[in-house]
Amino acid sequence: MTQHIKTTCVISGGGPAGLMCGFLLARAGVEVHVLEKHKDFLRDFRGDTIHPSTLDVIDDLGLGDAFDQLPQTKVYEISAVVGDTPVTLADFRMLHRKRDYIAFMPQWDFLNFLSAHARGLPGFHLHLETEALGLIEEDGVIKGVRAMGPLGEMEFRADLTIAADGRFSTLRDASGLELTDFGAPMDVFWFHLPKPGGHGEEPAGRFTAGRIFIMIDRGTYWQCGYVIPKGMAADMQASDFEKTRAELNRLIPGLESAFAALKGWDDFKLLSVQVNRLEKWWREGFLCIGDAAHAMSPVGGIGINIAIQDAVATANMLGKPLNDRTLGGEHLAALQKRRLGPAKLTQSAQVLIQKRIISAVLAEDENFSAPFALKLLNWLPFLRRFPARAVGLGVKPERVACDAQKSA
Ligand SMILES: Cc1cc2nc3c(=O)[nH]c(=O)nc-3n(C[C@H](O)[C@H](O)[C@H](O)COP(=O)(O)OP(=O)(O)OC[C@H]3O[C@@H](n4cnc5c(N)ncnc54)[C@H](O)[C@@H]3O)c2cc1C
Repeated sequence: MTQHIKTTCVISGGGPAGLMCGFLLARAGVEVHVLEKHKDFLRDFRGDTIHPSTLDVIDDLGLGDAFDQLPQTKVYEISAVVGDTPVTLADFRMLHRKRDYIAFMPQWDFLNFLSAHARGLPGFHLHLETEALGLIEEDGVIKGVRAMGPLGEMEFRADLTIAADGRFSTLRDASGLELTDFGAPMDVFWFHLPKPGGHGEEPAGRFTAGRIFIMIDRGTYWQCGYVIPKGMAADMQASDFEKTRAELNRLIPGLESAFAALKGWDDFKLLSVQVNRLEKWWREGFLCIGDAAHAMSPVGGIGINIAIQDAVATANMLGKPLNDRTLGGEHLAALQKRRLGPAKLTQSAQVLIQKRIISAVLAEDENFSAPFALKLLNWLPFLRRFPARAVGLGVKPERVACDAQKSA
């Protein structure tokens, strides 16, 4: 038998956007149900970065001290080896704020942290193992979600349905909203590389003729991203893995024993890079945020951050009309207007970097050297504040502006 739940807001997706939005709305007194199709947050790598603007939001919520207790690595600057030249690309200390670093922590730790604090709020309900299947629509207005929970079919009827179910959003597809794809020249293989003793801080990125390699220090291992030209993965996977191992050894000399520990392609996970954006993010009773509204390129590692910013703006702008039960299309249009600019500008910059730098690096087969603009960052260190601002704070960072309701 179908279980029926009537509420104020239902959110599909317990990722950074959905959980933060659910938390903030519940904190503002809105009854909210968050549906997450997995049974926990412990799954594949989906990015580890908590940027200064998200750290500001955590401080706004009074959770800074609790957050500091979580295991994390604080990264104050980003460096890379481009061709043969070491370059410091961004220095977050130049942002001059309380938390002038990127906190690297597994995304599941961050999501567990958010959900643990949200669960203390009376209006917050998290449904794990509950998959949104489609929208409930009446007379052109979205009235809620049909879902499959651990005990069977469920129907959530709500004043507002939010799709925060990521880049392959089921609800966005069901809504019929139109998505524009901007293309990407690369895909990324992600894998764990055991860290041999004696290794300290390695540069986070290496750009060399034909390849880009990213290394995120996770203490006992590196989370590695091996960037390849789009469409090449199938050929690579079909050929002998030893060829790729030899290429990795050539790319990162000195780590032969670590690469020797890789068993083969089963250790690798392919991220098919997408950059896309909805033309319109909403319909009556329905809104898309985070990757569901705009899948970001991995350039700058800002997808989590911008998803959180969407969530904060949503709670700031829609908390009151949801509480007053006056929510209308004009509120949703205003929300899109506020967040479209940051998403558009960020994606435009990412697409430009993809075209000008990443495509160029991936197309080179020899003698790749650092472009002049990157060399400038070494010669004039004060310039590192600009990439630090773009990556650390993004465009129009949002602060929590909706008051916490006192629980009864
Ligand atoms: C391999 C990889 C590496 C990345 N690295 C970085 C990085 O270093 N830094 C960075 O900032 N960003 C990174 N990103 C991007 C980042 O993960 C996303 O931009 C960000 O997580 C978007 O948040 P979101 O909440 O909008 O969507 P998601 O994080 O995708 O969350 C969507 C949630 O919805 C759930 N869901 C999906 N469908 C349904 C359904 N039908 N019903 C219920 N639940 C559903 C999913 O299980 C998921 O939990 C990376 C992404 C990938 C894939």
